Parts: sequence; C-alpha cells; structure tokens
Amino acid sequence: MAAAAASPFDCVLLDLDDTLYPGSAGIGLATKRNIDEFLMARCGVTAERASALRVELFRSYGSSLAGLIALGYDVHPDEYHSYVHGRLPYDRIAADPNLAGLLRSIPQRKVLFTNSDRAHMRKALQRLGVDEAIFDDVVCFETMNPRLFIGEDEPEPASASGDRPRPAVILKPSVDAIVAALRVAGTNPHRTLFLDDSERNIAAGKALGLRTALVGKKVRSKEADYALESIGSLRRTIPEIWGGVASSNGGGGEQLNNKQGMRSELDSIVLEPTSIHA
Ligand SMILES: [Mg+2]
Repeated sequence: MAAAAASPFDCVLLDLDDTLYPGSAGIGLATKRNIDEFLMARCGVTAERASALRVELFRSYGSSLAGLIALGYDVHPDEYHSYVHGRLPYDRIAADPNLAGLLRSIPQRKVLFTNSDRAHMRKALQRLGVDEAIFDDVVCFETMNPRLFIGEDEPEPASASGDRPRPAVILKPSVDAIVAALRVAGTNPHRTLFLDDSERNIAAGKALGLRTALVGKKVRSKEADYALESIGSLRRTIPEIWGGVASSNGGGGEQLNNKQGMRSELDSIVLEPTSIHA
C-alpha cells in the first residue's frame, strides 16, 4: 500500500496490549497473576517466590516463558498461553468505537506486532471491535517462534546469527524480533513508525533505526520520538502519518519534544545490534 505522499512513514508497526487499549483495563496485572499461578502450579515454585521469579525471568530472558524454556523446563508455548492468557478477564477490554476507523484511516502499511499468542490477539481485537483484516500483516508469538512448533523429529533451521547465541524464544525487545517485524513490514526502518507502551521495546526499536512512539505516557522516554497518552490521540500527536505537519507550538503534553530539546534526527541513529535479548 502506498504511503501518503508527504508522510515520512511507509509502514506503521502497532503493539497490541496496553497500546491499542489502555493499561488501566488491568489485563497486564491479571496476566502477571496468572504467570505467578503457572509458576506455582507447573514449576513447583512457592507463592512467596513466584512474583520475584517472574520479574527475574522477565529481566533476564524477556519473558517468563522464554526463561522457563531457557532454564530447561519442559513447557510448551500452547500450554503456557492457554493458562496465562486463556483465563484473562477479557470483558475488561472495552469496545472502542473509534479504533477501527482510526486504524483504517492510516494510509501506510499496518503491521500488528505483539509478543502475545494468536488466540489472545484475536480475543483482544474482538473485544475492541477491530477486524484482524484491518492489518496488512501480523507478527505475533507464533510467527516469531516457528521453530518452537516444529516436530521433534524435524531438524532445526540453521542459525543465521553467526557467533551470537540464538535465544530459545524470540520476543520483543530482542533484535531478532524487531528484525522479524521489519522483514514482514518490508520497509526501511527509518521510514517505519513503531508504537508500543514498553520503554524497553521502544529502546530496542530505536537502536535499529525505527521511528518510535511511546503509548500510554505523557512524557517521552529517551528513545521515543513521540509520546501519546492513548491510541485515540494518534492523529493529534503524529499528524505526519497522514501527511500533516507536527505542531510546534507546544499545545499539549503529547506534542513533540517541546521541553526536552530537539527531536532526534535520523542521521544520528547508529544502526548497530543492541545487547538486548529475549
Ligand atoms: Mg504492550
């Protein structure tokens, strides 16, 4: 799909959870509780230890599932996701009557880029009133990790990453995850806009040259080119998507960088792999 003539973007990558709907829905908290219960029920962890272990796994491996697999636990992703996501209170995700129209109006290629599994993604989108077909493509847990679903008798694909150890599970904010999304997007990273609520993910995207928008925050993180409190203010905060010109009068907390110096320029971005791994 051709981008708007005057837009600096050819593609928009959109996270799902806490980005297309607000964190206040409580899905993130409920997910953490379910992970703790999974660690207790499936891995023999005590209730006192579960939350701390979840945080440790997240910090060290990018996610609890990635950590469990890296540590040798025989956990299948489908089992994990059905336990952790399958019992979420989806009724807390309120229908957003404006979201589908907003997404449809984005003239660029749109790719949903989520660490979540496909079943969760579909339930969340259904609650939001968004047809999956609005997106030109989807990058989710299953598409980033096809080798986790390969039969045991089949040979694993050779690693293309040379001397860098390949993570067992590929998720944002790893370089491999961002590269996977860029391959699907098929665009120059410098002309790709990445929206996510995670500062960690935004930092990883910036390190690979993406233009970045931190969602759910009034103030930009260091690596974010934009900050918007909710997806509903996308048009006001980043009118460049539609070929508009960004406001420079500082008319709101979400406007570009009015108090924090000049917006970072593409030429200053160094395209080097980060040390962040899932
Ligand atoms: Mg998110």
